[in-house]
Amino acid sequence: MLAIVLMGPPGAGKGTHAKWMAEEYQIPHISTGDMFRAAMSSGSELGLKIKAIVDRGDLVDDDLTVALVRERLLQDDCKNGYLLDGFPRTLAQAEAFQEMGREIDRAPNLVLNLTCPDDVLLKRIGGRRVCPTCGASYNIHTMKPQKEGICDRCGSQLIQRKDDNPSSFEIRLRNYYASTEPLLDYYRRQGLLKEFDGTEAANNLKIELETLLASYR
Ligand code: ADP
Ligand code: ZN
Repeated sequence: MLAIVLMGPPGAGKGTHAKWMAEEYQIPHISTGDMFRAAMSSGSELGLKIKAIVDRGDLVDDDLTVALVRERLLQDDCKNGYLLDGFPRTLAQAEAFQEMGREIDRAPNLVLNLTCPDDVLLKRIGGRRVCPTCGASYNIHTMKPQKEGICDRCGSQLIQRKDDNPSSFEIRLRNYYASTEPLLDYYRRQGLLKEFDGTEAANNLKIELETLLASYR
C-alpha cells in the first residue's frame, strides 16, 4: 500500500514525479496547489480570497487546507492509497493530519523529499510553463514542449503561473524554509522519510524512486 506524502521546495519536481507515480501505481494524485487553483478559477468569493493569497506566494489558512484534504481523502478512490503533493506544509497541518489520518484511517506510510538548491529552483521556476487544462509542466530551457507554447499531451496553450514571478517566488521560498522544511525532522523522527536528489535528470530519478517504491507494493 502506498500512502505517500511528497515534499520539497517549489520547483524541486514534485508535480513532475507525482504525475507518473500516480499513473504507474494507480493512486490518486492530490495536489493542494491544484485544488486551490481550481477554487480560484471558479470565481467564488472564497476562490477570490484564496487567489489573493496564492498569487502573492503566501500560504492558505491551515484549518481550511486541512478540511479540504480531509474531505478529499474520504473519497472512495483513496481507500487503497494516495499521493499527497504539497500537503502538509506547516507543523500545524502535519499535526492535524496525524490526528485526522488516524481518525479516518488514512495515515501516510511514506514521506518522499526531493532536495534542490535555491539557484536551481529559481531557474526552473522562471522557465516553467504549465498546461491549464491537463496540468502538465514544461520548462522553456530544459523540458521544452514539441511545439512552442503548446501542451504535448492535450494541445492547450501553455501559460506561466501567476505566482511564478520573482517576488512571489521569493515569498514561497521563504515560507518553505520557515514553515515546511522543519517538517522533515518531524517525519524523519517517525522513520517515514526518504530523501532524493531533485537536481537529477527526471528519468534517472524516476528509476531510483521506482526501486524504492517496489518494496512498498
Ligand atoms: P509549489 O510547490 O510550486 O509552490 P503548489 O502548486 O504546491 O506550488 O502550491 C501553490 C500555492 O498554493 C502555494 O504557494 C500556497 O499559496 C498554496 N498551497 C498549496 N498547498 C498548500 C498548503 N498545504 N497549505 C497552505 N497553502 C498551500
Ligand atoms: Zn495539457
